[in-house]
Amino acid sequence: MKKIFIVAIVFLFTACNAQTKTNTVTTTQKFAVTKTAAEWKKQLSPVAFEVTRKEGTEQAYTGKYWDNHEKGTYNCIGCGQELFSSDTKFESGTGWPSFYKPINKTCLLDESDDTFGMDRTKVTCSRCGAHLGHVFTDGPKPTGLRYCMNSVSLNFAKK
Ligand SMILES: [Zn+2]
Repeated sequence: MKKIFIVAIVFLFTACNAQTKTNTVTTTQKFAVTKTAAEWKKQLSPVAFEVTRKEGTEQAYTGKYWDNHEKGTYNCIGCGQELFSSDTKFESGTGWPSFYKPINKTCLLDESDDTFGMDRTKVTCSRCGAHLGHVFTDGPKPTGLRYCMNSVSLNFAKK
């Protein structure tokens, strides 16, 4: 009986923990992969550094993936985490690679962004904090979401 009680307590504890876990970026966010600006600069191209570490945006239709139709996976340029599958990529007509769903819920962090008076949500890699792009709510079915990504934030791995 005592054993069952302990199991129940442990279960309750983990259940509560799972509930308080959110996917929102906080200012004290600690990422599994952290590097100095100098280290990122060494690893990334100047444009990729500007976009992923300074929250920049590449020019529409200039990236290498907006018109990529090959099957494969789009991984984070900073840490290699798998972010999007080509199966969820769609033609958004924006000039940026667009997806309606990430590979899983935990690979991205969302943060509200009202810069320029726009109602949009910033999307960040959950492992290294790389800025990837934004998510909008005018996407196609089944999610209705449009993950508008920068090509330079991604690294495509062909299947
Ligand atoms: Zn990353």
